[in-house]
Amino acid sequence: MTSFSLQGKNALVTGGTRGIGYALAQALAQAGARVTITGRDAVSLQAAVGQLRDAGVEAHGLILDVTQAASIQQAVAAAGRVDILINNAGTEQIRPSLEVDEALWDTIVGTNLKGAFFCAQAVAKNMVSAASGGAIINVCSLTTCVGVPGAAAYASSKSGLAGMTRTLSAEWAAHNIRVNGIGPGYFATEMTQVFYQDDAWRDAMQKKIPLGRFGELDDLAGSVVFLSSESARYITGQILYIDGGYLASI
Ligand code: NDP
Repeated sequence: MTSFSLQGKNALVTGGTRGIGYALAQALAQAGARVTITGRDAVSLQAAVGQLRDAGVEAHGLILDVTQAASIQQAVAAAGRVDILINNAGTEQIRPSLEVDEALWDTIVGTNLKGAFFCAQAVAKNMVSAASGGAIINVCSLTTCVGVPGAAAYASSKSGLAGMTRTLSAEWAAHNIRVNGIGPGYFATEMTQVFYQDDAWRDAMQKKIPLGRFGELDDLAGSVVFLSSESARYITGQILYIDGGYLASI
């Protein structure tokens, strides 16, 4: 099992203060990595770092707003050597496409797509100059494959992220940087809680998931550890969907 170990690796998880990012950071740390999580708010960042440390893992925190180029440069410089980057920071707001304005589009696409690209670029520059290689994992979404009404900006950002994953995997393979994605299915988090308050939506959606339940954050742990590890050394440019079978059945 040593090829799944992340002992001695440094992982940077953007948007690790809560939800999926926090769970991914916890999984990487449990596999042996030193983790640095990021967030925009110092109080919630420190609380999340404290929670990870209380669980006995090595964790650090950095302030980062992925929509700001200067903030990315600062955080990546402060992070030091990064072997694993998890591009997780993201945002979503459901709004009918006829009502989407430029500000909403720019927030969603600027965070989920542009932010992820420039984080990947900043980290990859260091990996290239150190000739160290590394693993980048982009948190994609089912909206790369299915149309969800009201999610045009989000789907555009995540579909772009999937294309970016494939492009960077081809471009940076020569530097031994593997670029993959994970595509979580339906997970209740702060970002998605509004859906789960709707009983009718919950009942209907659950019936569409072959494994019969919504995702639990722990369900994502194995995939991110695997793709980060030596076990996945010949895997790049792939997106692994963790969705209880949803995509395969529609
Ligand atoms: P949460 O809202 O719980 O967490 C979002 C995280 O992103 C927070 O840590 C937040 O940090 C951070 N973040 C938001 N905007 C920025 C920004 N501009 N700069 C830096 N960090 C930012 O959502 P989830 O955990 O659900 O989502 C995490 C990722 O998973 C997202 O990319 C999302 O699209 C994706 N995803 C989620 C699914 C789900 O079902 N929940 C399904 C598929 C994909 P803070 O506010 O502290 O700065």
